[in-house]
Amino acid sequence: MTGHAVVIAGGGPTGLMLAGELALAGADVAIVERRASQDLPGSRAGGLHSRTIEVLDQRGIADRFLAQGQIAQVQSFARIPLDISDFPTRHPYGLGLWQSHVERILGGWVEELAVPIYRGCDVTGFAQDGTGVDVELSDGRSLRAGYLVGCDGGRSLIRKVAGIGFPGWDPTSSSLVAEVEMDGEPEWGLRRDDKGIHSLDRLEDGEQVRVVVRERHIGHTGEATLRDLSEALIAVWGTDYGVHSPVWISRFTDMTRQAASYRDRRVLLAGDAAHMHSPVGGQGLNTGVQDAVNLGWKLAQVVRGISPENLLDTYHAERHPVAARVLQTTMAQTALTRSDARVDALRGTMSELLSMEGPRKRLAGMMSGLDIHYDLGAGHPLLGRRMPDLDLATASGPLRVFTLLHDARPVLLNFGEPSGLDITPRIERIQFVDAKCAGVWELPALGQVTAPTAVLIRPDGYVAWVGDITHSGLPDALTTWFGPSAAATRCGQKPIRPATQFLDTGLTA
Ligand SMILES: Cc1cc2nc3c(=O)[nH]c(=O)nc-3n(C[C@H](O)[C@H](O)[C@H](O)COP(=O)(O)OP(=O)(O)OC[C@H]3O[C@@H](n4cnc5c(N)ncnc54)[C@H](O)[C@@H]3O)c2cc1C
Repeated sequence: MTGHAVVIAGGGPTGLMLAGELALAGADVAIVERRASQDLPGSRAGGLHSRTIEVLDQRGIADRFLAQGQIAQVQSFARIPLDISDFPTRHPYGLGLWQSHVERILGGWVEELAVPIYRGCDVTGFAQDGTGVDVELSDGRSLRAGYLVGCDGGRSLIRKVAGIGFPGWDPTSSSLVAEVEMDGEPEWGLRRDDKGIHSLDRLEDGEQVRVVVRERHIGHTGEATLRDLSEALIAVWGTDYGVHSPVWISRFTDMTRQAASYRDRRVLLAGDAAHMHSPVGGQGLNTGVQDAVNLGWKLAQVVRGISPENLLDTYHAERHPVAARVLQTTMAQTALTRSDARVDALRGTMSELLSMEGPRKRLAGMMSGLDIHYDLGAGHPLLGRRMPDLDLATASGPLRVFTLLHDARPVLLNFGEPSGLDITPRIERIQFVDAKCAGVWELPALGQVTAPTAVLIRPDGYVAWVGDITHSGLPDALTTWFGPSAAATRCGQKPIRPATQFLDTGLTA
């Protein structure tokens, strides 16, 4: 039986990002993907928000995406525009780029990192025991994994087999999304009515039209057809504009659900497998990619025997509240996209509110993902928030903070007196840099904060500790997040058995 420290079910955006993160951190990872190639029929997600561009920048790959998309002020709340051009980030905008391109670029990165992908087959079942997970594939093969991560989308088999509940709210609306040709010249752009938003947009090639249209009824069970689309168009526009030649027709609803737990022992969930909601606000892919960046380094440390297994509990503790908030704001936006006199009045009030500085910054911080705050306890405002990509002066010359994160290794930045702190036992894992920073410390939506004396940055770019490096809290923070030092392990602490170790007992590929 072939073995991997981690097997990921599903090579969509979440699975690809997670695979890249694990490979960068030195874990043996493989993806099992149903599709025979990375090609994605249809357009689905339309782009990336600012924080997602930042996390790609932290790995040195943001330029690949920026070069192929269109930057713009795309953030909105229920389509009420939210300008973030004054936000303190190198990417104060969103990026218009279809999901098929996002996946192609991520796929290229994962290929460079030599992650094996078992293509054209499904994970059909699994059984976990005390040391690993037996993963069954539809082609009859089995894989042995230390951990299995379900990145297999909203209908996640992994979630179902693990018996993880998916509580939430049933759909109140059903929409068709399609790429088609039309004989007639359609009425381009958005239309709002009592059912919600509909749109007709010309695609890049000029021939095809991207249709998003609400259906009159919910609860369809079969595949969406051209006839369904024609009927829905007629119900909204009074004509189907001679619709024909569909390249892709799909159906989505505003069903809103979240996995009760992101982990069951050796099985974890990420992306749509863990949370589902309406596409309004464009949060799904972004949340999934950021789940992956939160989980990747933690899981790598656990399978490499650097950290104990309970580090994985922080994944649920940090990411579940983030998606729970996305679910709430998505439902609020869905309600606001409908149009009748009362909802229009409420929209008017919201638009007025969002033209004010405070409310705009608050909601824009949330929609862009720049305000994410993991609860790491009381302390400096940076604690649990994203580390700003500041310009640093270091002994090896000028550097951006994000450049230090390219290898997905933790960074300890000291802005105080050069200390000569000895982190030799952890040197392989943690970069220790004496730096100076002349810039202002400003956080999106929060404003200016006091410059810290030292910060410990996790590989996902969030600040794990703020203080003075002579501070007694630093060794604890290093141990909590990055495992006991080699010296501590030598001094009698029980070493953690790496998950790869059991794979070496004859199960490795
Ligand atoms: C119309 C529409 C517009 C959207 N717009 C946006 C937007 O603007 N911004 C945004 O952020 N999000 C948007 N989304 C949501 C976004 O598309 C999803 O959130 C995103 O695709 C989730 O990525 P994922 O990798 O978690 O899951 P998926 O993309 O669903 O990927 C799951 C992968 O797992 C594979 N798979 C499934 N089951 C198995 C199995 N048993 N074994 C092996 N492989 C399996 C599938 O083939 C697939 O490749 C939109 C969605 C829709 C429908």
